[in-house]
Amino acid sequence: MKQILVINPGSTSTKIGVFENELQIHGVSLHHSTEELTKFTEISDQRWFREKAIIDWLVEHSVNLDSLTAIVARGGLLCPIPSGTYAVNEAMVHDLELGLYGKHACNLAALIAYDLSQKLNIPSFIVDPVVVDEMSPLAKISGTPGIKRASIFHALNQKAMAKKVAKILNRPYAELNLIVAHLGGGISIGVHQQGKVVDVNNALNGDGPFSPERTGTLPTTELIRYFFSKDFSTDTLIKRFSSKSGLVAHLGTNDSRVIVERIQAGEEKAQFYFEAMAYQIAKELGRAAAVLEGSIDSIVLTGGLAHSNKLTTLIKEYIEFLGPVIIMPGENELKALALGALRVLTGSERAAEYSPRGGEFMPKGRVIVHQERCKECSLCINSCPYSVLGFSKGINSKGFHPVEPMYPEKCTGCTLCAVICPDVVLTIERI
Ligand code: SF4
Ligand code: SF4
Repeated sequence: MKQILVINPGSTSTKIGVFENELQIHGVSLHHSTEELTKFTEISDQRWFREKAIIDWLVEHSVNLDSLTAIVARGGLLCPIPSGTYAVNEAMVHDLELGLYGKHACNLAALIAYDLSQKLNIPSFIVDPVVVDEMSPLAKISGTPGIKRASIFHALNQKAMAKKVAKILNRPYAELNLIVAHLGGGISIGVHQQGKVVDVNNALNGDGPFSPERTGTLPTTELIRYFFSKDFSTDTLIKRFSSKSGLVAHLGTNDSRVIVERIQAGEEKAQFYFEAMAYQIAKELGRAAAVLEGSIDSIVLTGGLAHSNKLTTLIKEYIEFLGPVIIMPGENELKALALGALRVLTGSERAAEYSPRGGEFMPKGRVIVHQERCKECSLCINSCPYSVLGFSKGINSKGFHPVEPMYPEKCTGCTLCAVICPDVVLTIERI
């Protein structure tokens, strides 16, 4: 019997579960108050506070830490990687600690899991983080060189539900063509072609249908006008588009149950925007069907919003002609994580090694130095997580030794150096 601790932090809570093989024997959502969290400047500073809260709860509920076989954590914002279960290693901890690919509370999970697993001398894993990237090269191209379409979606639930459907259909996941729509606060619609998500809308950053909280795809010219019409900061707009748009902006609530009640009470406005969201979801499903050239084994509607019979009925009216629709409401992230770890512990899957600088999906950058502008301040050298940069022996016309890439092969293209340089000396090309 394998006993597995599962850790899944959100912005104001940390969900934990204890599993014996597939069976959950403990589960709790530990709430952290604003007063507790505002003490920390950076999200990563919450690591030890949250770890202590987890240990205290386990001890209080008589869970013997020494009886744990493994710890599995929700994957954070990492370098884009293929789907699977990954052993937490130092490279992963490094990237999460620095927030190299973004900062979010989910980054804490693997940090806590790694620390506990070191103390207990057991393995720790992550499973299918949101940055799972199996997109085809064609799907990544946008119409603007320098802006790529990225794979950021509900990989954990999409993969878990797709594999569940494969079991129901009694066929290997790797042979199926599925379209999986995760319907939640954010909405992602993934094209699962023979075991790989070859295309998906970026569920976080304004791509695809609008959702209860997110804006979805916007017309570019209008977006630019909107941005410059007021004194918006970039952060304000990103927050607005990712968490304060969609239904909550139109109707003042992101709770579909409340909206359905308002529709039933005869509110036309609620009916209109709810139908508009269903329409956009259906349209995105149609786009996904085109990727599969219409060869679809099943369309899966999942996530919390799939509990809404009204929404799934509206969507089905549009897309049922495309193929059989299966509704699998909800998401059980804790169980999906436990199952991912169990597959490795029982030998049915090998744990992948996270290696942002050595893997097939390794991001790479080329640093271009405008030497004449450099004032030798060394800010960029100190900011580079991979010690790529140093000062050249040559001197520019102002008498400074300009920066040059000493280890160009180590550059991930993270752009930290270019962002920090006050004199716009550095340009990073993604290669
Ligand atoms: S982009 Fe700049 S900071 Fe990032 S790895 Fe390359 S040289 Fe270092
Ligand atoms: S490139 Fe910019 S940040 Fe780096 S040393 Fe030169 S002036 Fe300073």
